[in-house]
Amino acid sequence: MNIKKNVDLRNYNTFCVSSIAENFVEINSVTDIQNLTKINYFDDGTLILGGGSNILLVSYSIKNVAKINIQGINLIYEDENEIYLKVGAGENWHEFVEYTYENNWHGLENLVLIPGSVGAAPVQNIGAYGVEQKEFCHSVEVFLLKENKVVNLKNEECNFTYRDSIFKNELKGNFVIISVTYKLQKKFEPNLYYQDLKYRLTSECTPKELLEAVIEIRTRKLPDVNVYGNAGSFFQNPIVKKEKVERIAESYPKIKYFPYGDENHKLAAAWLIDSCRLKGFRIGDAGVSEMHPLILVNYGNASGKEIFEVSEKVIHSVLKKFDVQLVREVNII
Ligand code: NAP
Repeated sequence: MNIKKNVDLRNYNTFCVSSIAENFVEINSVTDIQNLTKINYFDDGTLILGGGSNILLVSYSIKNVAKINIQGINLIYEDENEIYLKVGAGENWHEFVEYTYENNWHGLENLVLIPGSVGAAPVQNIGAYGVEQKEFCHSVEVFLLKENKVVNLKNEECNFTYRDSIFKNELKGNFVIISVTYKLQKKFEPNLYYQDLKYRLTSECTPKELLEAVIEIRTRKLPDVNVYGNAGSFFQNPIVKKEKVERIAESYPKIKYFPYGDENHKLAAAWLIDSCRLKGFRIGDAGVSEMHPLILVNYGNASGKEIFEVSEKVIHSVLKKFDVQLVREVNII
């Protein structure tokens, strides 16, 4: 295995900010992980990198970095209704979704175009347009670093909730995801719960129409990661007690929210940020996207620290105006 010295991580994170990895290694197999544990590579809180699409690097340097490249899509089981695919953690999420679509295996259409790797998908339980990966995730194969062993966590054991999982909590810092097994459907049943899709399509739509609609909406609404560095939604949509939302609505009747369980509402963070007039707010090359206020962007040569400062400004402004605490979806490293 080739451990490289002093690698600039600029090309390994979708914000395209610089930070130096003192040691940098690419992992292609479980054997690679085992070999690295023998030299205690993971002992000092090593940064495990997938597609680098959910991190903001604010540190000038990081001691050890491991980039997960484990590839492969293997058919595990199939019957007339379902198919189980075991997917290497290093596979690209968007390409995997396209592959399932091309083979007429259904469920992930609403999650097309989400940047990042398959291994990162269960960590924050990625979701878009009314679908979360937890609905199709059968199990996650994980290397536990402290225990030095591979375990297979069933869906129920991953504690998936809104943009959250066991990997962000109990297992934080102690795991490398090796593969994820997805259970997909052979019969197409579109999820058109979100308005953007409901307006465009009917329940008779084809998988192609659904996929193309999601691609069209995302391309129009979200800044292109290949043009301006970003990490998709920077903040979670806050889950707030119904009574509190009703109180806020007395002063701000246009507030955008959706029912979330019996006691809570989910507030649209983008609406809160927009209402603080922060769309387009900038510090140097770091800013709140003009296209979608939930997304922070690097307009050129922003540093991780500047993007972080913009996020602080957003959090403080929303807290001051609405008394609602925004939580970052993106991990700060
Ligand atoms: P929108 O219609 O302006 O709504 C704003 C927020 O309200 C969304 O983020 C969504 O939350 C929530 N929402 C909308 N319809 C809902 C419903 N019927 N039930 C419950 N919650 C609802 O949406 P948008 O900002 O354009 O986003 C649409 C979808 O794209 C969302 O699912 C969002 O997650 C996704 N998106 C992804 C990224 C990314 O790159 N990762 C960036 C922006 C938006 P949820 O986020 O919880 O779905």
